[in-house]
Amino acid sequence: MKSPQRILLVGAAGRMGQAVIAAAERQPAIVIAATCNRGERIDARINDCGVVVDFSNADATQEICVACTRAIKPLVTGTTGHSAAAKALIEEAARVIPIVAAPNFSIGINTLSWLARHASNLLGESFDVEIVEAHHREKKDAPSGTAKRLAQILGGRKAGELVIHSIRGGDIVGDHTIIFAGAGERIELTHRASSRETFALGALRAASWVVDRPAGLYAMEDVLGLSGQ
Ligand code: NAD
Repeated sequence: MKSPQRILLVGAAGRMGQAVIAAAERQPAIVIAATCNRGERIDARINDCGVVVDFSNADATQEICVACTRAIKPLVTGTTGHSAAAKALIEEAARVIPIVAAPNFSIGINTLSWLARHASNLLGESFDVEIVEAHHREKKDAPSGTAKRLAQILGGRKAGELVIHSIRGGDIVGDHTIIFAGAGERIELTHRASSRETFALGALRAASWVVDRPAGLYAMEDVLGLSGQ
């Protein structure tokens, strides 16, 4: 029998970290072998693990990328709010190790992305496109990484015109609506996450997938086999 995949979880004490720990407990093929939170060294136990999963903060990106490339360990990062410099660090590290970077690991939102791309192509430029996203009051970045990714997917036809509206309040896990508004009709595509379990399960799926990949930067669409479709 294959031994379980050993994960170093960065941001383990956070909302997403706790959801990943709970999801991993139900998966015999995966074990959270080490954890790391703010103020703790990432590289202390990295050699003991097969893959690093990160749900922390964008200011941890440099340390994580250095530790992973030094130890040659694959990385799955769900952290959002990266600066252009932090994104460049991830791209640089992906020349050495395989990295899955995704602002949203849920299968539903990746299906929404797929639907949005196809709707956008069918509807053409006569439809205006707006994105509305809502998250809990503690979320640090706005707009959400998912909304920015959706805008990127739709941006080819509406460069500079697409507006993202952000709502912050209560304990909303994560809602995203894309509105295609035309003359006399509109389409609204909505995804609502009601539990962080969906993100956690997607991240663990990505962690199992990434260990067999060559160096490179991958998206959740690659993990799900949706890219190019
Ligand atoms: P949180 O504030 O609840 O938890 C963050 C955790 O990261 C804390 O335990 C903190 O100690 C740790 N941390 C912060 N800085 C660190 C550092 N420099 N080194 C090590 N650990 C550090 O946040 P959260 O709600 O769990 O979200 C975490 C991140 O994941 C955010 O960027 C959020 O937007 C993102 N997120 C992604 C997805 C997805 O599917 N990709 C889903 C939900 C949230």
